[in-house]
Amino acid sequence: MNQGVEKTFDDLNALLARSEHDYDMGLIRRAYDLALSAHGDQKRLSGTPYISHPVAVACILVELGMDTESVCAGLLHDVVEDTKVDLDQLRKMFGPEIAGLVDGVTKMGRIPYTSREQQQAENIRKMLIAMSEDIRVIIIKLADRLHNMRTGEFWAPAKQREKAMESMEVYAPIAHRLGISAIKEELEDLSLRYLDPYAYQEIENNLALRRDEGNAFINRTREALQARISKMIPNVYVSGRVKSIYGIYRKMFIQGKSMDQIYDIYAVRVIVDTVNDCYNVLGIVHDMYKPLPNRFKDYISTPKPNMYQSLHTTVIGKDGIPFEIQIRTWEMHHTAEYGIAAHWKYKLGMKDGKSGKDTMEKRLMWVRQILEDERDSQDATDLIRSIKTDLAPEEVYVFTPKGEVINLPVGATVIDFAYAIHSAVGNRMVGAKVDRRMVPITTVLKTGQIVEIITSKETHGPSRDWLKIVKTSEARNKIRNWFKKEKRDENIIEGKNELDREFRRNGISMEDSELEALLLRLGAKQNCTTPDDVYAAIGYGGIQLWKVMPRIKEAYYKAHRAEPRKETPTRQAAHHRATSGVVVDGMDDCLIKFARCCNPLPGDEIIGFITRGYGVSIHKKSCSNVPHPIESCAEPQRWVAAHWVGNVKEQFQTTLELLAEDRSGLLADVTQQLFNMKLFIHSLNSRELKDGQAVITASITVNGLEHLQNIVSRLKSVNGVTSIRRV
Ligand code: MN
Repeated sequence: MNQGVEKTFDDLNALLARSEHDYDMGLIRRAYDLALSAHGDQKRLSGTPYISHPVAVACILVELGMDTESVCAGLLHDVVEDTKVDLDQLRKMFGPEIAGLVDGVTKMGRIPYTSREQQQAENIRKMLIAMSEDIRVIIIKLADRLHNMRTGEFWAPAKQREKAMESMEVYAPIAHRLGISAIKEELEDLSLRYLDPYAYQEIENNLALRRDEGNAFINRTREALQARISKMIPNVYVSGRVKSIYGIYRKMFIQGKSMDQIYDIYAVRVIVDTVNDCYNVLGIVHDMYKPLPNRFKDYISTPKPNMYQSLHTTVIGKDGIPFEIQIRTWEMHHTAEYGIAAHWKYKLGMKDGKSGKDTMEKRLMWVRQILEDERDSQDATDLIRSIKTDLAPEEVYVFTPKGEVINLPVGATVIDFAYAIHSAVGNRMVGAKVDRRMVPITTVLKTGQIVEIITSKETHGPSRDWLKIVKTSEARNKIRNWFKKEKRDENIIEGKNELDREFRRNGISMEDSELEALLLRLGAKQNCTTPDDVYAAIGYGGIQLWKVMPRIKEAYYKAHRAEPRKETPTRQAAHHRATSGVVVDGMDDCLIKFARCCNPLPGDEIIGFITRGYGVSIHKKSCSNVPHPIESCAEPQRWVAAHWVGNVKEQFQTTLELLAEDRSGLLADVTQQLFNMKLFIHSLNSRELKDGQAVITASITVNGLEHLQNIVSRLKSVNGVTSIRRV
């Protein structure tokens, strides 16, 4: 966004001329003439003629790509409030649409700001109602506020703080929720300067010290990326930037990090034409630089609530400086910068109108939804919370009664909070209050709540059920530790029961000697020397059955040549398309299911097994549950020939899960391989497991089975990859 503060009509004209939209220059000229004569010799606090303010607001609206009506309303937005011109006159001269916009902005300006939550909520509600009638009203208001904040140095200190507070608490979150990041970031930086001047200065000085080094770094990196990517992908645009001051502030003062610990002070953005190019750029980037583990985020397959889409990854640059890379298409870029305002770009005919309209509708849905929710809610302060929460969609910030901030992931409960304070608080918890009201300890926390934990020495300690409720691994580990230490006997009983349940569910039964051998094998890593030790470990969660059961089942079925117990047929839907592609010899129209043990795909050699009452289950011929030879089993007549019909070379989407020894460069090598094979990637994710392993899931389109096998063997050749399975 253009930082120049004073604007003249010539500046506005130049912007209008440069724009790719067709503006009604005559109408805009008339709006300017009326505003000029109405404001007369009114002056701003800075001493400049008042007209410079509405002209500057109109300039911001043109930069956002807003339409003629909005630009005219921007020029006229203070006329009704501050001059003798009234609404009727505007209606006669400019029609109901522009007059309506000016009226909306005027009314919004009359809503007083107060830091008292209850009152503030009521005011925001009024704003939302105005927005839901014509969303352009809030965009004009945002432009108005932005220009006022840019010229805020002329306000008295008390007014500076009040306007800054309101911008930070109301306008920046609304801009964020509407996806207009350009306005959101500038409002935050301008506000911070008045709200925490010392911190602002500190960060600004610190950035100034690094400025030359930083600029050189960004330029070098930008050029290197541009050169390398352009070789493989057309129309690449690379830009670099320094993180916003408020963005740094949040990390430093809310997350307690130093400037050196913030990985994304420098960010580089790569913009390309297609989604597939985005993933390909990711492969190239990870080949050029070492990615930091756990910093990759795929917001393309999982967009943020405000429709933001991009791939994010953090890598180490050549000089050891970490930086973030954002990869997106042009369409995603417009949505990220201009958010809902991007709609008018589409409306004005830059691209096809359809996608713009859908996005617009979705965003308006949010406004209506909030108004709806608010009507049902007892407490109007919920409204303000639902707006503030969107500031950090991945995290919630809650407070102790003493005002300490506790930072938890979204979805965290009161139990997580208690363990975040101290394990003794969690272990002795008997109840909790949120905002002074008693609540169940399973309550999911929201940003801004004050949480008080009630403890007692008489309690029997945490409940096992808590393990299923908590969101943070910190809480889970602390609860497990408590059970490990305090409750060996109970753990043994619980562990036995759990294993029995799993065995019954899967139709497994073992001789005592076989069971004992299995238990000791399971517990070897945990230093268990007796079966009871192993049961205890299962009981407190040191051994997690859901993780080890697949291996137990596989070994058992192999040893006993048994058919795996059929589970609920939830997967049938996913296979529906393929179902029609199988013919079982001698049977028309029989119910066909694909065996879960081997998941056959078109092209696999297959065989059918006539189950009792479940139709025919199709296995791969190579599956370990298929007897070799067939005649060797008890009922060979139940095995029947089956084969695929139709075009088996058709394309299908599949998801691969790679398990690997984690190492630096792993994700890089995998993405590089995917890139080399020119695959269509739908999504890509990686996460680290506790034991030095990593899981990478890639959702891709393949051309038949042969292609898939090819891909799997290429990926297996990546150093460190231990296994690959289809999910
Ligand atoms: Mn104004």
